[in-house]
Amino acid sequence: MEFPQTRLRRLRTTAPMRSLVRETHLHPSALVYPLFLCPGEGVRREVNSMPGVYNLSIDEAVKEAEQAASLGLGGLLLFGLPETKDEQGSSAYDANGIMQQGLRALKQTAAAKKLVLIADVCLCEYTSHGHCGVVQREGDEFHVDNDATLDLLAKTGASLAEAGADVVAPSDMMDGRVAAIRDELDEDGFEQVPVLSYASKFASAFYGPFREAADSAPQFGDRRTYQMDGANLREAMREIEQDLGEGADMILMKPALPYLDVIHAARGRFDVPMGAYQVSGEYSMMQAAFERGWLERDRAILESLISIRRAGADFIVTYFAKEAAKLL
Ligand SMILES: [Zn+2]
Repeated sequence: MEFPQTRLRRLRTTAPMRSLVRETHLHPSALVYPLFLCPGEGVRREVNSMPGVYNLSIDEAVKEAEQAASLGLGGLLLFGLPETKDEQGSSAYDANGIMQQGLRALKQTAAAKKLVLIADVCLCEYTSHGHCGVVQREGDEFHVDNDATLDLLAKTGASLAEAGADVVAPSDMMDGRVAAIRDELDEDGFEQVPVLSYASKFASAFYGPFREAADSAPQFGDRRTYQMDGANLREAMREIEQDLGEGADMILMKPALPYLDVIHAARGRFDVPMGAYQVSGEYSMMQAAFERGWLERDRAILESLISIRRAGADFIVTYFAKEAAKLL
């Protein structure tokens, strides 16, 4: 049937009609809110390049968790800013590290029963050099030692599970980390703790503001020898396949908006639950436009999130989680 028998505008005439035929939906329970835990008490330090995002001491993070739960969010993704950093990132797997303390405190709240507490597993916030793994130096050259890093990541994963993480989420992009973490979790009695692997993580300019938020910028070099080249879709599929083969229960892809095709391709190919991370640069870019009055805030937030869902993500990690939940 063609025009004039067919008129696609018939189904757009009213709000209820549009709602009836809407193909993609957003729900607060599919939104995950990132939190940055820092030492101290009563600390709520706004990140310069991310208006509305804070470094939070644990007591403040507990308040955020309560709000997140009352808004019906799906979970929290936790990052830590440790008291001290060293070459091996030892605060990442310290039983009294900032994340471990935070998880124990959060776990005691009523909010924790309504939220999935996802702990980021990486070393970059904890290493003095800011790389995601163990750095080997030879003169001016350096490389990030894949296999030497696996042990430390596995220890970190188990330590976070022990402290109360519901899910551990390795974001380092070392080869073999999912298997190493899975083994360690199983050995330590955490066989029920799922691994959410950042399987498809591209080396991206859009992580810039996060590095300020998490104080994790590399002190030298960049992360292109372990994060993926933004030009490669097929390689992303291989990364996902490899992580699933090693026992990942769910995967996370980032960034989101500049890589919607990757999310879409992954959705068509794999049947596991998938999340996408609307990263700091995506957030800051929109905030900057809102500040200037160049974009309509509420509509732009929801449109960016619905596009990520439409591409195929089941859940979305976003700094807009609380705000979006209020709009829904
Ligand atoms: Zn890292």
